[in-house]
Amino acid sequence: MARRRQIYEGKAKILYEGPEPGTLIQYFKDDATAFNAQKKGTISGKGVLNNRISEHIFTLLGHIGVPTHFIRRLNMREQLIRQVEIVPIEVVVRNVVAGSLSKRLGIEEGTQLPRTIIEYYYKDDALGDPMITDEHIACFGWASQEEMHDIADLAIRTNDFLCGLFAGVGIRLVDFKLEFGRIWDNDYGRIILADEISPDGCRLWDIESNEKLDKDRFRRDLGGEVEAYQEVARRLGLLPEGADAGAVLDLEKHRKRRGK
Ligand code: C5P
Repeated sequence: MARRRQIYEGKAKILYEGPEPGTLIQYFKDDATAFNAQKKGTISGKGVLNNRISEHIFTLLGHIGVPTHFIRRLNMREQLIRQVEIVPIEVVVRNVVAGSLSKRLGIEEGTQLPRTIIEYYYKDDALGDPMITDEHIACFGWASQEEMHDIADLAIRTNDFLCGLFAGVGIRLVDFKLEFGRIWDNDYGRIILADEISPDGCRLWDIESNEKLDKDRFRRDLGGEVEAYQEVARRLGLLPEGADAGAVLDLEKHRKRRGK
């Protein structure tokens, strides 16, 4: 069999040419990066978990009418997706103050926001993904007004759905990042949800303990990354009950080991 053609390699994923025109294969790596790739590492098994978690979420979003690039999962680390023209904007949705918002405005992490905030960042690693507004997007033609309307609408619908999904399994959806793509029907472009939704791009806190179940464990050297991602998968019903139960969540042990 001929080796398939690699289209793109990102920090956490590789895209290969798909079996049919207009499709790609999205491969989930175990590589983890933070702070615009200044910090690098490997979270063993992360790719498998993110593939499964993202499949689950994109499938459910499809059921409520949010169009996504997801077609089907192919194996442990790969999924078949629709090829899109990526809109060069990272869309961050926030329900609770954390991360860069907390730093930028000096507001304590964990403060509940009175309303959901949507922020836009220009996707450019060399520039460190700078924050932008609708004005920049319109001015530089990164997306049309109509596309931005669709993007904001899909982001809010996704947030409403995910808040409920995670609350149902005892997780607070603090914030998350989305990416969108364009697909073309002749001359008509349509916006669909692309990339992935997984603990790599979401802040997920246990509702009771505020324990972090996401990539902040890696960013902040908290340890227990795989256990946290496994816990998210387990709560979403994606790990067989009782499978490797001892290894599922022992964040307490990690804290003790680190003397915290
Ligand atoms: O760092 P910041 O607080 O702006 O991140 C907000 C949310 O967006 C977090 O959930 C983070 O995981 C996600 N994010 C991401 N990729 C980036 C920047 C932020 O997934 N390049």
